[in-house]
Amino acid sequence: RSQKYTARKILVEFQEACETPLPRLRQVVDAMAVEMHAGLVSEGGSKLKMLPTFIDHLPDGNEKGLYYAVDLGGTNFRVLRTQLGGLEGRVIKQEYEEVAIPPELMLGTSEQLFDFIAKELVSFVAREGEDFRLHEGQSREIGFTFSFPCKQTAVNSGTLLQWTKGFKVNDAIGQDVVAALQGSIERRGYKMRIAALVNDTVGTLAGGRYWNNDVMIAVILGTGTNACYVERAESISKWGGELPKSGQMVINMEWGNFWSSHLPRTYVDELLDNESLNPGEYGFEKMISGMYLGDCVRRVLVRMAQQAGIFGPHVPHKLLEAFTLQTPDMSKMHHDDSSDLKMVAEVLKTVYGIHNTTLGIRKIVLAVCDIVCQRGARLAAAGIVGILKKIGRDGSTANGFIRRNDVNGIHDELTVNSIGGSGKTVVAMDGGLYEHYSKFRNYMQQAVRELLGDAAKNVFIELSKDGSGIGAAILAASHAEYV
Ligand code: ADP
Ligand code: MG
Repeated sequence: RSQKYTARKILVEFQEACETPLPRLRQVVDAMAVEMHAGLVSEGGSKLKMLPTFIDHLPDGNEKGLYYAVDLGGTNFRVLRTQLGGLEGRVIKQEYEEVAIPPELMLGTSEQLFDFIAKELVSFVAREGEDFRLHEGQSREIGFTFSFPCKQTAVNSGTLLQWTKGFKVNDAIGQDVVAALQGSIERRGYKMRIAALVNDTVGTLAGGRYWNNDVMIAVILGTGTNACYVERAESISKWGGELPKSGQMVINMEWGNFWSSHLPRTYVDELLDNESLNPGEYGFEKMISGMYLGDCVRRVLVRMAQQAGIFGPHVPHKLLEAFTLQTPDMSKMHHDDSSDLKMVAEVLKTVYGIHNTTLGIRKIVLAVCDIVCQRGARLAAAGIVGILKKIGRDGSTANGFIRRNDVNGIHDELTVNSIGGSGKTVVAMDGGLYEHYSKFRNYMQQAVRELLGDAAKNVFIELSKDGSGIGAAILAASHAEYV
């Protein structure tokens, strides 16, 4: 390039392009609420899929017995068992195991992927201690947490709509993922029943609700990002079936695919999207989630290396490779509070073999991390406030009321007309990004407070660690065949 950019100039330009001042965030909030509505009215009405989950009642603590969960996320795979003791005993005992998903399975065949899950599950079950007890005659019932968009036809069946987060197992698209896993388990000679197909957001919602009745929304910030919430069934105009007795339905938003012209999109986002496995899709996720944040930073550094030579006369080879800067490493650099930015130097050295950076350059690298982190966190906050707005809990509508409903012994707030309301709303959060990247978490919480103003006192954002796994097991309990 003939143009002479300095690294500073690139930095300032990037910063300006990423800015998320309150008025802009408010436009994102409004766009989220509008798109939610559109996605509920008709299928394909919005980029937000707003998928009905067939979960029309949430756990209340009465669940009892031994249940399992398998959780296929974006990076890790978990198996879990939990012995539930009802309101008194609650979670009596729980065990889980976690393995990284072998990368080749993310691009292989459906059979390979589901066989891997079945193999891990079966071996986990085989190593069960005597203190975990099934009832007489009860088969093993499983909640299957599957964090990809599925069109459900029942609580325990659903076909995969598309892959996200770096997965591309083509023959699985359009398949019933419950039948596929069930088949793999049976081929291994085991008899288990998948009682519920659970998006990770829904598992987190259920896991949060198990302990706290005020949980209305769940958000995942991990490899990918997504949210679900409790909607009034009658608001789901596209719903063709009978309305559930509870009057409610959990909606899996698939908010990763949200798009709005108000989002601060830059050249980095364009490049990242073009080179991704799902171009044109999941644009919100690509600005926010753990799989992508590090790569956004890397792409700015590439520009600085190419146009301003910040890493010397040659651009380090590995810096040009996608996804080489992982978000945990970005986070390490970002949290470096040493005066000479030791950790920034260390990460650049170990990841890219870049030596001898000046403090000035390290400061610029740190600033890039801050810009990317802050943008992602504030957009996630706008998404959350958009949901609060949709369900009338953002404080923008005065004189609303909450009607309490008691259907089938299930006590729930926000059943009908929960506009305004003075009740508490809890947002259950899970995912490695939110859990481990504290600057991200702080920026997000701060932006939620800014957006809500006074209403912030009624909104609680709480980490619900491993909620997606245990929530799925609890949903298996409440949808079990054996009662
Ligand atoms: P999954 O999304 O696969 O279910 P997790 O919720 O455990 O898994 O999230 C894992 C993701 O969280 C990682 O891919 C990474 O992007 C992000 N992450 C994990 N640890 C950190 C960290 N220390 N700092 C920033 N991001 C992290
Ligand atoms: Mg997960």
